[in-house]
Amino acid sequence: MARSSLRERADLVDRFRHYLQDHRLPRTRQRDRIAEIVFASEAHPSAADIQRTLAEGDDHVGTATVYRTLELLIASGLVRAHDFGDGFKRYEATPMQQGGDHGHLICVRCGTVVEFTNDRLERMLPIISDEHAFVHQRHHVEIYGLCSACRKHDLEL
Ligand SMILES: [Zn+2]
Ligand SMILES: [Zn+2]
Repeated sequence: MARSSLRERADLVDRFRHYLQDHRLPRTRQRDRIAEIVFASEAHPSAADIQRTLAEGDDHVGTATVYRTLELLIASGLVRAHDFGDGFKRYEATPMQQGGDHGHLICVRCGTVVEFTNDRLERMLPIISDEHAFVHQRHHVEIYGLCSACRKHDLEL
């Protein structure tokens, strides 16, 4: 998720706590930490990335706990999983506002993910849907290619 404020993050963690409470699930420090890491990250982290970040903060959390917590975050609607074709899932907070979703540019070589928003594209997609007698609800745009760093590397060879 792009540029979330501290307040937004605190709000998301709070909503996750309520979700756990409503479903009679234990609220643990580890679950809180995992939620915080996903909400704070702009890098679409994988489960392994999250585990590494936890370990850096001296929280050694098992893989099963990380995955279970990610499942709960997805079930709560606060987090979504992406498959960018690199063999594992990546996670990010679900955008709060309806409509103004962001797309992803994914580097097929190094896996870098860049987010973008484009008003013209957002306006076009419902029009395209309409042309096919389809009612647009949501969409997700992924563009695969080479990032600037990888292209620069190619030019320097
Ligand atoms: Zn994103
Ligand atoms: Zn790249």
